[in-house]
Amino acid sequence: MDCLFCKIVNKEIPAQIVYEDDRVIAFEDISPQAPVHVLVIPRRHLATTLELKEEDESLTGHLIVVGNKIAADRGVAEKGFRMVMNCNREAGQTVFHVHLHVLGGRFMSWPPG
Ligand code: AMP
Ligand code: ZN
Repeated sequence: MDCLFCKIVNKEIPAQIVYEDDRVIAFEDISPQAPVHVLVIPRRHLATTLELKEEDESLTGHLIVVGNKIAADRGVAEKGFRMVMNCNREAGQTVFHVHLHVLGGRFMSWPPG
């Protein structure tokens, strides 16, 4: 399977990894949109959030818990940060391996663009 993020999981292409465990891996976004921009992804290939099923609820929650830890580590937890999962093209998904964006370190507007 030709998946960019599976290649990062398998260490076939480099990334600035900031956290990893048996289920997820987190690394710096290559094109950061905020002073803090980290992606948290499951090790297992899932193309979009639509593939997360009931049996994946623990994994889904774990992505958020790890996102919280990263926000705390980077000092943005109390100031505020945003966690985003884009699903499919109209939402702006460009890499089809589930990923949670953790963004912080600047004021953010709402609604999103
Ligand atoms: P999305 O648009 O939600 O699919 O987000 C994909 C994200 O992956 C974008 O923010 C990209 O900047 C990021 N990205 C693409 N290639 C890499 C890479 N090789 N290493 C780290 N981040 C990447
Ligand atoms: Zn993948």
